[in-house]
Amino acid sequence: MADKRDYYEVLGVSKNATDDEIKKAYRKLAKKYHPDLNKEPGAAEKFKEVNEANEVLSDPQKRQKYDQFGFAGVDPSAAGGFGDMGGFSSAGFDDLGDIFNSFFGGGMGSNMGGGYSQRSARRDTSPKRGQDKYMRMNVSFMDACFGKTETINISVDEQCEHCHGTGADSPSSIETCPTCHGSGVVITQQRSIFGMVQQQSVCPTCGGTGKKIKKACHVCNGAGYLHKRVSVDVKIPAGIATGQQLRVSGKGERGSNGGPNGDLFIEINVQAHDSFERIGKDIELEIPVTAVDATMGCSVDVPTIHGDVTMKIPAGTQDGARLRLKGQGVPDIRGGKQGDQICTVRIKVDENLTKQEKELYQQLQDLQNSGRGDTVWQKFKNSFKN
Ligand SMILES: [Zn+2]
Ligand SMILES: [Zn+2]
Repeated sequence: MADKRDYYEVLGVSKNATDDEIKKAYRKLAKKYHPDLNKEPGAAEKFKEVNEANEVLSDPQKRQKYDQFGFAGVDPSAAGGFGDMGGFSSAGFDDLGDIFNSFFGGGMGSNMGGGYSQRSARRDTSPKRGQDKYMRMNVSFMDACFGKTETINISVDEQCEHCHGTGADSPSSIETCPTCHGSGVVITQQRSIFGMVQQQSVCPTCGGTGKKIKKACHVCNGAGYLHKRVSVDVKIPAGIATGQQLRVSGKGERGSNGGPNGDLFIEINVQAHDSFERIGKDIELEIPVTAVDATMGCSVDVPTIHGDVTMKIPAGTQDGARLRLKGQGVPDIRGGKQGDQICTVRIKVDENLTKQEKELYQQLQDLQNSGRGDTVWQKFKNSFKN
């Protein structure tokens, strides 16, 4: 309400104008801006403004309050808006009705009642980008490590290349809508007990675009887009992880009013592997090592995602030891350093010994029990003494 114009200014009369002068000024302006007679953009707003000014200035009580307190004295929402009936006593209504009846007895040819309300239904016709679409894609463990190009089939509304989304066969097939003269809206009036209710609605001829297409595009039949089933190659980069998204530009929902499509986002779900576990760029793997190999040390061929890699297990390796194979992990998705493979040693006892192996183990056991006081077991027992 900050930029509301002074009511006297709206009617173009002085502050000392007589009731008759106000009446005349109002008739003149109401006729000038009446939506039935004036289709220019902005006329409806002017008409509303004129009505509001008149409602106050033609009422001696309201005019006095307005003179004294300005807009605050007359509550513009009550003065102008018949949509909100709060605060309107029947007496007040009758007064206003009389005033309007006296004005519009016949001169206008249109039986304007007392009230005037307007519901705006202008449609936004600026180009808008379509919504993004989302889908999920399962990727095998190895494909996520090394990357892959996956071909997907999707439905997409593609902008018609012939008409560039306008729906017109050629630029010269577009003309201004004859119904709304390009404004995209039409104004209708309805009589109600509160007077004439004016309603602004989207133009039924052009749907709010303000344009009429003489000849529809012969490729898309005027739709502006073509519904297509397309194959899209999705490049899955090496090193992708669960939860990461790939963007396929322009394969989302179609835009409106010639706006571009949204994008398609593909959320990746990397499937688990039976043996390898991936933690970021690193691969975790448990490897079984016999007690003899762990004691004596050895060399083993360890499986990695890149194939077998020879690894040295040092003598005296304990269960749970973590041995690192540098650079044998997952590629960095941003081209950085490749991850590692971390092998956790699990010492496994051989349960199927040959006769000879059994004899050797027996000899070893006898030897350890004969006098050596610092066996693993002895150290354990000693810790309970004292
Ligand atoms: Zn129209
Ligand atoms: Zn087309």
